[in-house]
Amino acid sequence: MMTFLKIGTKTRSGMKLLAGTSIMAASLLMATTAFAAPCMKITLTGTQGGPPVFKGQAGAGTLVQYGSDENKCGAVKLQFDAGRGTTQSLSKIGVPVGKLNAIFLTHMHSDHTEGLTELMQLRWHFLSKGPKVDFVVSEDAKSPRGHVLSGRNFAKHIGDALIHSGEMAQRLAENPKRAPGGPADLINVMAFPPASEPTVVWSSGDVKVSAINSRHIPGHASYRVDTPAGSVVIGGDAGNDKPKPPRSSSTSEQVEKLANGADVIVHSTIHPVMGPDKDSGFPPPIYFRQSTATDLGAMAKRAGAKHLMLTHLIPPMGAPRQGPYPIPGGALSEASYKDAVTDGGFGGNTVVGQDLVTLQLPAK
Ligand SMILES: [Zn+2]
Repeated sequence: MMTFLKIGTKTRSGMKLLAGTSIMAASLLMATTAFAAPCMKITLTGTQGGPPVFKGQAGAGTLVQYGSDENKCGAVKLQFDAGRGTTQSLSKIGVPVGKLNAIFLTHMHSDHTEGLTELMQLRWHFLSKGPKVDFVVSEDAKSPRGHVLSGRNFAKHIGDALIHSGEMAQRLAENPKRAPGGPADLINVMAFPPASEPTVVWSSGDVKVSAINSRHIPGHASYRVDTPAGSVVIGGDAGNDKPKPPRSSSTSEQVEKLANGADVIVHSTIHPVMGPDKDSGFPPPIYFRQSTATDLGAMAKRAGAKHLMLTHLIPPMGAPRQGPYPIPGGALSEASYKDAVTDGGFGGNTVVGQDLVTLQLPAK
């Protein structure tokens, strides 16, 4: 099988072979190209939970790539959330920002969005002729308090600070071929009304992305990517629709619906040690609007997932505090998170997220 695939990956040398040898070689090449094995890669581009900083961890984000051996599983590149440092993270794995096909945001919190400003500025600087990047967000959502959460406005104003500083005018004077409106010109906004059933919001060839509404702040959405190589759910910061106990779980029933039968669940995580019963001082409403590692383990088991990737860890492994709040009992380890997941009953593969951890499907 390995030899079979290896031939398929070497199209160029294969073409030379075609010119110089037999029809047999030609048909072998065609067969290997046609049956190039589909594969996908899921990379955590940033694992920091919330606005604090810790040891240079990048802000929340997940890169999902799909393709075949011939393109290192990377023909399609989808970025879900883009916290601080996303551009640097992508550069560490050799993914230029200009190669992203689409960017999806779960919600309008800076720890998930602020990396997009520098990412789009870089795209504008060198790739003003396009292509535009698809930007998939939920439609404007009105909070009960009256303000509006708007991905549309985030995209529209993404270059504003540099426009108002005069830098954009300066750079346009130096190179008038750049898009005149700044990086906002390169964003193709695809806003969708979040529904309570999985709804397809983006697709390309064999890749289909569905979304569902979920609770954290108004407009929060969770996503699922389906490909012939496998499927992954990106939960974001989803929590249960009931904002606090009593309730059956801290996890979202909608995310569970989306995750049914998925291979992989990537989800923001809070450790139960930050709960109001443990005296960390962490604000209970903030604790209750995240999913705990234990409840995520239980949800992953019910959904039948094979892999659970914990990300956006609150608190980070090894950190003495989460922002100003000390960790009761001291810093947590990888085992602290795995134990919490096991308490929920999950017996599959748990990945406790660190920046650039990658899972490939099917497994090598
Ligand atoms: Zn967050």
